[in-house]
Amino acid sequence: MRKKTRQIHVGNVAIGGDAPISVQSMTTTYTRDVESTVAQIERLQDVGCELIRVAVPEMEDAVVLSEIKKRIKIPLIADVHYNPELALEAIRQGIDKVRINPGNLLQGRKSLEKIVLAAKERDIAMRIGVNSGSIDALDKAAQMQRVQVRLRDDGTLERSDPAEARRLEREHLAERMVTRALEYISWCEELDYHNIDVSLKSSTVLTAVEAYRRFSERSDYPLHLGITEAGTLVTGAVKSSVGLSMLLADGIGDTLRVSLSAEPEEEIPVAFEILRSLELRNRGVTFVSCPSCGRVEIDVISVANEVEKRLSKVQTPIQVAVMGCVVNGPGESRDADVGLAGGKGKGVIFRKGQVVRTVPENQFLDAVLKEVASLLPEAEAKVVYPEGGIKDTAGTHRTRDEGMNIPMLPRA
Ligand code: SF4
Repeated sequence: MRKKTRQIHVGNVAIGGDAPISVQSMTTTYTRDVESTVAQIERLQDVGCELIRVAVPEMEDAVVLSEIKKRIKIPLIADVHYNPELALEAIRQGIDKVRINPGNLLQGRKSLEKIVLAAKERDIAMRIGVNSGSIDALDKAAQMQRVQVRLRDDGTLERSDPAEARRLEREHLAERMVTRALEYISWCEELDYHNIDVSLKSSTVLTAVEAYRRFSERSDYPLHLGITEAGTLVTGAVKSSVGLSMLLADGIGDTLRVSLSAEPEEEIPVAFEILRSLELRNRGVTFVSCPSCGRVEIDVISVANEVEKRLSKVQTPIQVAVMGCVVNGPGESRDADVGLAGGKGKGVIFRKGQVVRTVPENQFLDAVLKEVASLLPEAEAKVVYPEGGIKDTAGTHRTRDEGMNIPMLPRA
């Protein structure tokens, strides 16, 4: 059961209450470079990003926000640290939401109050973002204590801080984060401002999970989930999936960002995959493909990757399977809306559980994408399967008895 939170609105996107859990990202361009920033936001919109945050480190970045907002379709959030004047200018520029960490604002509460009054006047939302890194969490003594690591005779490592000590430290930090967030909220409430969501991020998965759980028990403000500084594409996707899934499975979370040291467009499919896996959103393609093994009869890895890439902009819920051989291929393909089950140098195409036809491997892309397009609305179908069909091929010829990795010629 999803935890019931109060609902706020960021532009035309509702967060909290019974609204779908929304997916957001943050640009990596210099915000003052309007052309590059807008271009990146457009790429993010194309793959399903629903809210976008931009960094506002200086006034040059604040004064271009109205221009950026005019040119994009999704709500614009300004991310401000330290200088409250930047937040005030961003609000004047017409942004939909401001993200601040009151803990690092110059003049603390006084600055927060100025921003709250400006946000209230324009009826825009605010995220109170508390990061573990900005909390003086550990006792000074504990901070000074060096963790000793010893190599045991059996080759394993023994840490001088046992699991129990780490757990207590984590709980202490999480509690400090929650206390701080609740204090900031109370400052806003004293000004009768409630248009708030909250994040309690940490780069340590279990600390973030602990903080979000504790906050959720004590408040019904909507939560923006994230594991901050999670890492590169694989590391970050795994850490985010673990942390966010633990919370989402508890019913906690109203909007989320998967933070990756990668192009921000890479964050969106990871976020939607997490939500689809937990059956919280069903937007886009649920993709099923086998890892391939020594039984494989087609180049399933290349074909699966190419099909998935070409379907990245599809928003209609649809299940597509690409499978390597007869062991699990027909079963999974039959269960999908469209499936390809590999055989020796050829593949059987399924549509809605029925065999449609058998095609040679140089027609896999054409056949799968044609069937997918036939199930999509016209605008999406045109993108997936342009007039004239797909001439490209994917992968190499690969069968057990004829050899492998022989480049295929494009279809005539
Ligand atoms: S479907 Fe066939 S090729 Fe793919 S992993 Fe299973 S057994 Fe291997």
